[in-house]
Amino acid sequence: MKTLQGTSPYEAACLLIKDHKDEDPFFILDQQDLHKKVAIWREHMPRIKPFYAVKCNNDPTVLKILAGLGLGFDVASKAEIESVLDLGVDPSRLVYAQPCKFSSHLLFAKSHKVNKMTFDNEDELHKIKKIYPEAKLLLRIRYDGLSTMCFGDKFGADPENCPKLLKLARELQLTVVGVSFHVGSHAQDGDSYVRAIAGCRKVLDQAISLGFTPSILDIGGGFPLKADIHFTAIAAAINETLDQYFPNDGPIEVIAEPGRYIAGTALSLVTMITSRRLIKRNDGEIMSAIYYLNDGIYGSFHTIKIINRIVKPKIIRKTHSSEDDTKLGSCIASDVWGPTCDSYDKVGSSMDLPLLSVGDWLFWPDMGDYTLTLQSSFNSYTKASIQYCKTD
Ligand SMILES: *Cc1c(COP(=O)(O)O)cnc(C)c1O
Repeated sequence: MKTLQGTSPYEAACLLIKDHKDEDPFFILDQQDLHKKVAIWREHMPRIKPFYAVKCNNDPTVLKILAGLGLGFDVASKAEIESVLDLGVDPSRLVYAQPCKFSSHLLFAKSHKVNKMTFDNEDELHKIKKIYPEAKLLLRIRYDGLSTMCFGDKFGADPENCPKLLKLARELQLTVVGVSFHVGSHAQDGDSYVRAIAGCRKVLDQAISLGFTPSILDIGGGFPLKADIHFTAIAAAINETLDQYFPNDGPIEVIAEPGRYIAGTALSLVTMITSRRLIKRNDGEIMSAIYYLNDGIYGSFHTIKIINRIVKPKIIRKTHSSEDDTKLGSCIASDVWGPTCDSYDKVGSSMDLPLLSVGDWLFWPDMGDYTLTLQSSFNSYTKASIQYCKTD
């Protein structure tokens, strides 16, 4: 991995493409962006300790930087636990935030002293009792917000079922240390956090009345990709609600599990046009263009299908043909496909792009979240990896 300095990620990509020989896609990591996002988080939500959700982007350099910045980590599997512990992070900085765990992974967590974990059903309590009775449990509660991906059908106990679950935990002599929720990925506003935090107060009071002494409120992930006014509005709503229900001098420590917010803007994806098909009228006029890239939905673009994200590339021109002159300045409707032999593999429809040629490159900003970790090996194309690292 090379390191570049003093350029924007786009400028860095342009420089690198100049003498780039192979045809494989790659990411540029802007290390400074991770530092900035964490600093902005701490400025706007000083009370809330972030536990970065490893599934969002598990690149070792990304994890190392975040570990160095003192973040905690949200892990969901044996391999995720291992990747964080291997960096020398203390197990107390991990939360095993998967309510439905493999028994073997739970045993692994136990042998490595990762003791904070979530649950949301009776069977899981029995499993934990059998394998890891000393674990510190967070009851994951269902609070669905307006978001682009909702988790409520899959995870989270309904608030009305919480007393029953807490009673069972008590009977099994397990230790409940708090509650957690996830309003859904890419939350649209702060209201869902506000409602969930208020609801958590009630469940924590139920826990106290059953004899538990809870100390953690985990407000999950779902924060926006960018540190924009949307983010600051959500942060302000959360702070106000926390002050109301969980005063700063109380016994409750507040943590969160941001993924997309932390990693989303740190990576840019750089892809090449490997093939092209022009649609022409009888008189030769170009009506539209179809491009094929070296990366697609089965690679780094999977997430844009899942959450219907609109992405727009910047151009890195490497070629110049006579056709370019006739079309210079004007854009034409362009369909952009991934490399695989599958019609689901479409990155963009009718995108407004200037006429491009095979060998030109496209630069896609804000591709750090759920890109690297969702790549498949369908058709065995080379997966984009982080080849270049940019520091300011
Ligand atoms: C995926 C996930 C996160 C991260 O969500 P973002 O929307 O990326 O912030 C946090 N917590 C849990 C339990 C998750 O499953």
